[in-house]
Amino acid sequence: MTKITPQPGIMDIRPYEGGAAHVAGVANVTKLSSNENPFGPSDTAKDAYRKLAFELHRYPSADHASLRLAIGDIHGVDPERVICGAGSDEIIAFLCQAYAGPGNEVVFTEHGFAMYRISALAAGATPVEVPERERVTDVDAILAACNERTKLVFVANPNNPTGTMVGESELARLARGLPEQALLVIDGAYAEYVEGYDGGAALVESRDNVVMTRTFSKIYGLGALRIGWGYGPAHVIDVLNRIRGPFNVSQSALAAAEAAVRDVNWTNKCRDDNTRLRAWLAEALAEHGVPSDTSTANFILARFASQDEAEACDEFLKEQGLIVRRVAGYKLPHCLRITVGDEASCRQVAHAVGKFMEQAR
Ligand SMILES: *Cc1c(COP(=O)(O)O)cnc(C)c1O
Repeated sequence: MTKITPQPGIMDIRPYEGGAAHVAGVANVTKLSSNENPFGPSDTAKDAYRKLAFELHRYPSADHASLRLAIGDIHGVDPERVICGAGSDEIIAFLCQAYAGPGNEVVFTEHGFAMYRISALAAGATPVEVPERERVTDVDAILAACNERTKLVFVANPNNPTGTMVGESELARLARGLPEQALLVIDGAYAEYVEGYDGGAALVESRDNVVMTRTFSKIYGLGALRIGWGYGPAHVIDVLNRIRGPFNVSQSALAAAEAAVRDVNWTNKCRDDNTRLRAWLAEALAEHGVPSDTSTANFILARFASQDEAEACDEFLKEQGLIVRRVAGYKLPHCLRITVGDEASCRQVAHAVGKFMEQAR
């Protein structure tokens, strides 16, 4: 037996499983399993990435000043209190590493994003899972779970994989009610899909215990490059910058993200298309007897009568080259999460679910 052992908590981690991208024996698949933007990034982002081919011998910017400035311009936030990471996953990891350790608790909701548990365990802290109310974040349940050991509370708004969200006044009530040593993290990975929603930025500004995380992997279509950002009070950003590696984000990612965030027309077009196609898809699935909660993100959580039915539908879709996401790991075994793709993909998946339901019931 080896005496070489990792830190406490690490062997309790179940590694994250990304959405599948291939089906054995099927050449052309439609991937609707990772909430990617079906239209990809802005053309200006692709140009910026291409130009970087001639600068690959240079280290990236260590302070990310140019991207932080662009984020400040477009999102109306103070660039001094923005931090960039290799995906928002890295910001989540920094927060856990910086604020939570053995004996501390990290709170999140029962259908919350998998990285909260993983990062909490990696830091040696204790994950605490709180019930939701019919697949919606329950602020009272979160507050009831907090105590003197609570250091972090993660809420994704909109939430993944449910697609539901709570109002700004509910988040403000949560921030006000937390114990004084606890930090609220509002994960805004899908915030850009909600017209007029600031992702929690105003709440960050009005308090000293709220951090917002954002990503370029979803509406901005840059998942391959791994870039996200966080916005918080100066004292938190200062702490996170102390543990951030100086070159944690590549120059290609910085340049592409800067171009992407400044192309507001493309972002708006992607949001509008998503809103329209999401409504169409939800309606089409409902007509086939598959209901869903009103989604505020770029995916739909389709509810089936049972786990067996959801799994059989997933198999049926796979045979047609349609890859969606099983969410049993999120305590939703009777559901499938379907990314809103382009119009052709939406029609394909709706048609296939309809065919499945005809023969299943
Ligand atoms: C996709 C997603 C993220 C983003 O992850 P990146 O590391 O930025 O790619 C964060 N939180 C939630 C809830 C997500 O669904």
